[in-house]
Amino acid sequence: MTWRAFAIPMRTRFRGVTVREGVLVRGAAGWGEFSPFPEYGAAECARWWAACREAAEDGWPEPVRDAVPVNATVPAVGPEEAARVVAGSGCGTAKVKVAEKGQVEADDLARVEAVRDAIGPGGRVRVDANGAWDVDTAVRVIGALDRFDLEYVEQPCATLDELALVRRRVAVPIAADESIRRAEDPLRVRAADAADIVVLKVQPLGGVRAALEVAEACGLPVVVSSAVETSVGLAAGVALAAALPELPYACGLATMRLLETDVCADPLLPVDGFVPVRRPDVDEDLLAAVEVGDDTAWRARTAEARAAWQVRTGRP
Ligand SMILES: [Mg+2]
Repeated sequence: MTWRAFAIPMRTRFRGVTVREGVLVRGAAGWGEFSPFPEYGAAECARWWAACREAAEDGWPEPVRDAVPVNATVPAVGPEEAARVVAGSGCGTAKVKVAEKGQVEADDLARVEAVRDAIGPGGRVRVDANGAWDVDTAVRVIGALDRFDLEYVEQPCATLDELALVRRRVAVPIAADESIRRAEDPLRVRAADAADIVVLKVQPLGGVRAALEVAEACGLPVVVSSAVETSVGLAAGVALAAALPELPYACGLATMRLLETDVCADPLLPVDGFVPVRRPDVDEDLLAAVEVGDDTAWRARTAEARAAWQVRTGRP
């Protein structure tokens, strides 16, 4: 297997990360990406490794669609900038960040109103609070925001218990995102009646097949999201979205532009609100340009994740 460590600056900070780092691996089936976030330990990284290994060695199940609808993401900016983001995206669905630290409810209302105006009455508008509200705040602000006709609210509060309470008190559907980091989490979400929709990502769940099994076992509608990856990692998310029997919502896979550059000459970017179902090839020059000189730490991390995966699966 070819093995290469990369580091790509991000256009905007994400989860406190300003440089996206990881490893690209090429096997018999193509390229895979292993890019767990810095704070993740070996047990968690074993699943991220499983996803990379699946991409490189096994490939993915057959798609049932040839394009995946994606949402534009509107950061916690002012209303004019929010409208510009939506108008320039070509997407029929917008996800608006709300509950930003240092901002007030009026900021969220102004932003969501601007997005609704920009996308028009036929567009879909969802909001994402990243777990920042308490239950009462969530109920109050969701009630106020719903005058702009919300598709759903993503992770209004941090815990499953809080999500379940909010869900009982508002009419807008609730999606669980941060509550899902492991394969067993969607089942806990379901058991707690905490959400109407689950946001699934390929790497944390251990691959496309593992995520499909989770989706089936959970039985809730799925929104596929990226872990902010290169086009190699994004292609796995697209493969999952393409293989799901039902895909009622636009996916969070239009994230390529969050990175300053890519490793593919023909990156996985949306066209008119859809990402085509394909697997872009890695460009050697582009990969060489972002390859890290000292890859010792990533070699150790990969070896540790692979060992944990081997222990768990009993496979070589
Ligand atoms: Mg989210």
